Amino acid sequence: MNGKIIFEIIDEILGIIQNHKDEIEKLDQEIGDGDHIFNILRGLEEIKKLKDTLKDKEVDFIFKQLGMKIMTTVGGSSGALFATLLIGMSKKFDKSLSDKDNIANMFKEGVNSMKLRGKADIGEKTMLDVLVPVSDTLNEVRNETNIKEIANKIKIVAEKGMLSTKDLIATKGRASFLGERAKGHIDPGARSSQLVIEAICNQFIK
Ligand code: ADP
Ligand code: MG
Repeated sequence: MNGKIIFEIIDEILGIIQNHKDEIEKLDQEIGDGDHIFNILRGLEEIKKLKDTLKDKEVDFIFKQLGMKIMTTVGGSSGALFATLLIGMSKKFDKSLSDKDNIANMFKEGVNSMKLRGKADIGEKTMLDVLVPVSDTLNEVRNETNIKEIANKIKIVAEKGMLSTKDLIATKGRASFLGERAKGHIDPGARSSQLVIEAICNQFIK
């Protein structure tokens, strides 16, 4: 893992989110206020601009700066929550470990920080329904060696988590105001997070 790869992945993520712009916008119009796609695109465009200043820096420093940038430029719950995820991840980077162990450790810390920040957990119809199972799976596959297989597994877990939000009632975020009416709609944050995971996994599958 290094700055060059991190910024290549950011470009891939931006591409996949742009390709699903209308779909994500519609999901947040159905059970939120419609700004989720704007928040995500804003964040990605802002962090993309940091490429030249950060690409040669240490991984933990890069993650922290990306998080700070999102924290200060992106609105909505998702801005603060994604920023918290990235800053949490920066805390667990250990140069002496393999990428696989680093990613598992960093993601676990990031997701735990997000849970604490938003006082939420799996099963509440949020992006945590994608991120928690992905984190758990990353930690389970530590001893597996085939990176493509791992990436495929993670992609499937993320998709399953995203789809699981459809039948849930939201207990956090704006969708919680809708009660039963939120049922039948996929959570916008779960869909955008799943697409982010998919973009990252695709980098390891091709
Ligand atoms: P806002 O809800 O403030 O308009 P966004 O539209 O950008 O912000 O983000 C909405 C998404 O944020 C939701 O779809 C959900 O996935 C996620 N979300 C909301 N509250 C929480 C929380 N407490 N923990 C985790 N994710 C949350
Ligand atoms: Mg919104």
